[in-house]
Amino acid sequence: MKPFKFNYLRPTSVEETLQYLEEYGEEAKILSGGQSLIPVLNMRLSTPKYLIDIGKVEGLNYIREEDGYIAIGALTRHVDVEKSQIIREKCPLLSEAIHWVGHAQIRNRGTIGGSIAHADPSAELPCVITALRGEIVIASTSGEEIVSPEEFFLTYLLTSLQPDQMVKEVRFPVLNPSSGSAFVEVARRHGDFGIVEVAAVVDLDEKGEISFARIAVGGASPVPCAVEPAEEFLIGKSPTDEVLKEASDMAAESVEPDGDMHASADYRRELTGVMTLRALKLAVDRSKECTRI
Ligand SMILES: Cc1cc2nc3c(=O)[nH]c(=O)nc-3n(C[C@H](O)[C@H](O)[C@H](O)COP(=O)(O)OP(=O)(O)OC[C@H]3O[C@@H](n4cnc5c(N)ncnc54)[C@H](O)[C@@H]3O)c2cc1C
Repeated sequence: MKPFKFNYLRPTSVEETLQYLEEYGEEAKILSGGQSLIPVLNMRLSTPKYLIDIGKVEGLNYIREEDGYIAIGALTRHVDVEKSQIIREKCPLLSEAIHWVGHAQIRNRGTIGGSIAHADPSAELPCVITALRGEIVIASTSGEEIVSPEEFFLTYLLTSLQPDQMVKEVRFPVLNPSSGSAFVEVARRHGDFGIVEVAAVVDLDEKGEISFARIAVGGASPVPCAVEPAEEFLIGKSPTDEVLKEASDMAAESVEPDGDMHASADYRRELTGVMTLRALKLAVDRSKECTRI
């Protein structure tokens, strides 16, 4: 099928984009890398009257470290994140996760802002930003605001973005060099959206006890889910198999999976426990390597 007729707008600055959004926001869609939106338009699941193509907007393609964050401009492509040395060093969790996003062709076109705004609960970047308690910078003609992933992701493919707003920047906290992180996923084939994925970060103190923990699960709830009770439970404990298993069981209890053609709800819950354990063990091993415990 072909998309419904639309008016094509091609701004070259953030200001121009925001003006268009103010004027046409209710009837418009932003087009970024097009990897999710174009199929949706072709299937006529969305029929916007205006398409605002931000591909030529200047100043939104960057990766930089500032104030303890890796700040990534909304138009930065997955491939640039994949190749970034600074992300590999400062936020290895993101580096590991990005390889799971689709195939090379998709990572060449798809953008960070698009992935976050599309809010697929099985997508890797929403899971990582939720685990790390990152920030999303949203802009409109009234100014900018910073929202947490918890405020931003509302449910399947729905965010708190208003019609006159765009995602301008996404911020991932820099990880402590002594921490270990792991991103694990089960998908039918590499490149498919994950059935369940888990992002975990663990830091160990000089006694070898857990001093910091982050866990998020994607694909098993309507939004990526930070498992705070398990994170709190881990603090101050030695990372024994029993302790990590108990935290993984807590993760499995905390998700709200739905069944679909790829997996039943029960399977997704079971997988959440298995994958959380796998991610935690890997993160602990990597932290031990960093701290040489
Ligand atoms: C075969 C295939 C497999 C894929 N597999 C995966 C996968 O495994 N994991 C994964 O995460 N993704 C996957 N994707 C999706 C891909 O990662 C997309 O790139 C991503 O979801 C959206 O980024 P985009 O730049 O292409 O956004 P677009 O498709 O251009 O836009 C997506 C949505 O976000 C909105 N939007 C875009 N940019 C902004 C912005 N700056 N501010 C506000 N709204 C904005 C658009 O209006 C639209 O609603 C796959 C896609 C395909 C086609």
